[in-house]
Amino acid sequence: MSRFNGRPGLEFEQSDTIRRVQEEELKKHLARCARRSPYYRRLFKEAGVNPARVGLDALAGLPVTAKDDFAGHNAEFLAVPAEKIVYIVLDTGTTEKPTQVMYTERDLNRLAYNEEISFASCGISARDVVLLTCTMDRCFVAGLAYFMGVRALGAAAVRNGHGTLASHLEIIKSIRPTVLVGVPSFLRKLAFFLGEKGVAAEKTSVRKLVCIGEPVRGLGMVELKLGQDLRKLWNADVHSTYASSECITSFCECTAQQGGHLHPDLAILELLDDRNQPVPPGTPGEVVLTPLGIEGMPLIRFKTGDVSVLFPEPCRCGRVSPRLGPILGRKQQMMKVRGTTLYPQAVFAALDEIPNVGEYYLEIVGDAELSDELVIHLGAHTNLPPPEWIREQLQARLRVAPVIAVDAEETVRHHVYSPQFRKPVRVFDRRESL
Ligand SMILES: [Zn+2]
Repeated sequence: MSRFNGRPGLEFEQSDTIRRVQEEELKKHLARCARRSPYYRRLFKEAGVNPARVGLDALAGLPVTAKDDFAGHNAEFLAVPAEKIVYIVLDTGTTEKPTQVMYTERDLNRLAYNEEISFASCGISARDVVLLTCTMDRCFVAGLAYFMGVRALGAAAVRNGHGTLASHLEIIKSIRPTVLVGVPSFLRKLAFFLGEKGVAAEKTSVRKLVCIGEPVRGLGMVELKLGQDLRKLWNADVHSTYASSECITSFCECTAQQGGHLHPDLAILELLDDRNQPVPPGTPGEVVLTPLGIEGMPLIRFKTGDVSVLFPEPCRCGRVSPRLGPILGRKQQMMKVRGTTLYPQAVFAALDEIPNVGEYYLEIVGDAELSDELVIHLGAHTNLPPPEWIREQLQARLRVAPVIAVDAEETVRHHVYSPQFRKPVRVFDRRESL
């Protein structure tokens, strides 16, 4: 068990009980922000807000905190003396300046608790052996969070991080993990690799996959090709988990696999439109979080930049807390191509359905008619289908006709795997910033 004093099981209780707990926790959180956070103290003063009067109903009246606010005033968000900080991570988009997120000991315990109840909700128990294929290094928090969650749950963790495919195979053969945690496209690659080495992934000990960083379901919770492939290749349950490192909060799909549950003792969740107004259930909106019980860098109405949908109705698993659907994309990367709204994630999913597409990246450019243009750069290789055919397939899926450019494979790889970034980059936004 983690040492954080949360309310495990709150998500199964009546909605008025949940509301009462959130109300109490929000009051404490706002009082703490007013007392300890230089940023929010200033903001409350400037906006003439008396935080003692703000309850759940009035939360929507408080200003939102954008990523740019957090990055631009990073030091002002620190709400504890420096000696209480025990862990610092860097949060980067792909092109933005990295922001420091500082954790106290209690925040780390909160992180462990968060992942413990998340993993428990998707059916992982102390009997499981969990192979973590995501790194704890390079200032990422995810790998540490999963490790702490597995440990808090009493399951066994195997940390192979960004090990080679061969080393993962050896571990699967010798330690026989029951759960894999990792990026879905990597887990698919791993299954193919096992196959090449004469090991059928579906016959291994693995029975559950926890997927991070890429969606396995699309709008309407329809399984994407990637999700289908993973389920079939590994003969395993596929769960998505989504986390915001600034908010030290994650949403993991339960056994019903119908979106990631909010842990209501840890955060308040809103989905907002461009004017910061709530969107109706099932409509895409930006994920905005007010994490509760954070000491180091508390946040109020933090705009994560990620777009998803909210399912407020009770779930088959018995939890009544709202669920967050798949991440449809980054708000910043939303395209309006001749009236159709589109996110790069949808383009990735559509490309994934086309056989023999190798490396690729997207380029978004603005044109004179106030419509964005999408250019897909594909790496040339002998099995690549004709560009015109690919374009038709994509148009049928996306209702938008992209421009297809076929470049030398080496040139495409050079764009995607730039040493400048920690992760592969597949979207280049050439539009003037709005
Ligand atoms: Zn559920």
